[in-house]
Amino acid sequence: MTWNFATSRIGHDGAGTLTLEVCHHRADYGNTFGGVFWLNSPPTSDLDVFCPACTADRGLSVSGTWGAPARLACVCGHSWTPRLPGLTPEQVLRNLVRLALSPQGPAMPLWRMRADHDTEPPSPLHQAVRPYLAEAGHALNRREWAFTEHEGRAAADILTRAGRMPHRRTGEPGAEEADDAAHLAWLHDNLHVLEGHALTAQGRLGTLLSNCATALRPAAALTMDDLEPGPTWSSLPPVLDDALRALGAVHVVLTAGATGDVDY
Ligand SMILES: [Zn+2]
Repeated sequence: MTWNFATSRIGHDGAGTLTLEVCHHRADYGNTFGGVFWLNSPPTSDLDVFCPACTADRGLSVSGTWGAPARLACVCGHSWTPRLPGLTPEQVLRNLVRLALSPQGPAMPLWRMRADHDTEPPSPLHQAVRPYLAEAGHALNRREWAFTEHEGRAAADILTRAGRMPHRRTGEPGAEEADDAAHLAWLHDNLHVLEGHALTAQGRLGTLLSNCATALRPAAALTMDDLEPGPTWSSLPPVLDDALRALGAVHVVLTAGATGDVDY
């Protein structure tokens, strides 16, 4: 998906941390000036991002496709890919988008920043696992299926090794990228455990785990370049939120089967 938005000023600390100023009143957003109010103050830092052709460091616009390098443009129309210390050009785009969306920052509306609104939504993995989990849940509820000792051990191992999901530190500037990376690593670790048991578990649990692991395979291929921000309850990127919910639903059924507490 493609992003495109105007800024007032972009700074960096020379060590991979970006700052972003967007001076506008929300009500003025989208007026003839593109909603960006010019700052009168002179450049305050050598580390402001500026145009390599005309040295403009105000009113730069940011564009790019998620997962690809950022493109910056000044009002003269010069356009370049920023090479900043401590950041790949892809991280520059991701971090600027996150900063612009941040409720503690400019809180720019998503629909203003997205250049293409009709691209397909993330594939809903929680829907992909639902039929298998619903069937298993009903069987457990109706006492048609009670975990064997072997199944109970496999489920307990999956749940024990899952532990707790990383804590989400909202509101800290620049923390989103690290948080997303931690959640993604947790997701990948747990999918790996699930896939391992899907190969070795027998009987009904083996079939359930195989079906869920297959349905969740797209989640195993996710990278940071797929984790585009969007509105979710968890404030995690929609693709990651969906994958974690799908995995969480698998864990709920495994918990029910392993504990015998099936009246959830
Ligand atoms: Zn320029």
